[in-house]
Amino acid sequence: MAKTDLKNFTLPELEAFLSGQGKERFRATQIFKWLYQKDAQSFEEMTNLSKDLRAELENTACISNLEPATVEVGSDGTRKYLFLLEDGAGVESVVIPDEGRNTLCISSQAGCAMGCEFCLTGTYNLTRNLTTAEIIGQVCAIKREVEIRNVVFMGMGEPLHNLDNVIRALQIMVDGNGLQLSNRRVTVSTCGLVPEMARLGREVISNLAISLNATTDELRDRIMPINRRYPLKVLLQACREFPLPSRRKLTFEYVLLGGINDSLADAKRLLKLIHGIPAKVNLIPFNEHQGCDFIAPTQAAIDIFHAHLLAHNVTVITRDSRGGDISAACGQLKGRLAEKSVNGEG
Ligand code: SAH
Ligand code: SF4
Repeated sequence: MAKTDLKNFTLPELEAFLSGQGKERFRATQIFKWLYQKDAQSFEEMTNLSKDLRAELENTACISNLEPATVEVGSDGTRKYLFLLEDGAGVESVVIPDEGRNTLCISSQAGCAMGCEFCLTGTYNLTRNLTTAEIIGQVCAIKREVEIRNVVFMGMGEPLHNLDNVIRALQIMVDGNGLQLSNRRVTVSTCGLVPEMARLGREVISNLAISLNATTDELRDRIMPINRRYPLKVLLQACREFPLPSRRKLTFEYVLLGGINDSLADAKRLLKLIHGIPAKVNLIPFNEHQGCDFIAPTQAAIDIFHAHLLAHNVTVITRDSRGGDISAACGQLKGRLAEKSVNGEG
């Protein structure tokens, strides 16, 4: 019988697993702390469990562990980690430093099925969902090297398309016996899967970011195929209904594509769309990548767009492109080893 990977369990699930073997519930809390607070890699280390229990666990359960295959460090301190998973699939995670407060950007899928036209991950299609253990494993592995303050699901994949495992991973992250992150410091980013947004809101408290990226259905249908299923009106209604803890805001991400969605008219439409929603806007100048015809916006277009939102009392930040020199910026993750150039260039 295959051994059960305990990193696929939330604390209540681990309690159920152990009680199914006739063990006390509090053993689950002890094991959970070993896994997430002491980063135990084996049952041997869990010295407050009896020898017998440890031996039993050894027979029925296992503890998975991710180790990065490569780490690249950009000139601005951004770090990109590539993890090769058991079946050979690859995913990337990125650490973005900000005055000592690191944000870890993790992946939820190998590839992505959503097919957004501007996103490199989307051009690889979906290989598979990550398991809970593979999602949480990225955090555990990187926490060994650097302190993590915020975790965002903005790496590869559409988190709400792998919702069961993403919810489990979130629960482990915010559990006081688990990774002990504040729910204010974890953010799920979605292209707009409306029913899953509602379920996320019901089942766990986290921040939510919506990749809006267009202000008309005509354009959004074209660049984000999910819009044909959940058009802007439906998506924004779901945003209005999302249960936010008091004084919190939704984040709207808006990739500025040069000449496509970066005009003043777009900024005005964006204001109308989000009117009345407690929101902040993240403007992300398009990061160019090979094989994609979109271009970055001009600095002037960025400034005008940003200033218009600000003038209407919207909290807005323009994300500076981090990690561009190691292809770690938004939308540049591909989850493969860098192709070596055959002619020795670059
Ligand atoms: N699938 C989720 C989370 C991962 S993408 C989502 O789409 O929200 C994280 C962010 O990167 C999204 O807001 C997306 O719009 C943005 N993005 C994708 N490709 C990009 C690119 N080439 N340049 C800048 N941002 C990009
Ligand atoms: Fe998938 Fe998000 Fe990229 Fe769209 S932007 S293809 S949803 S990862």
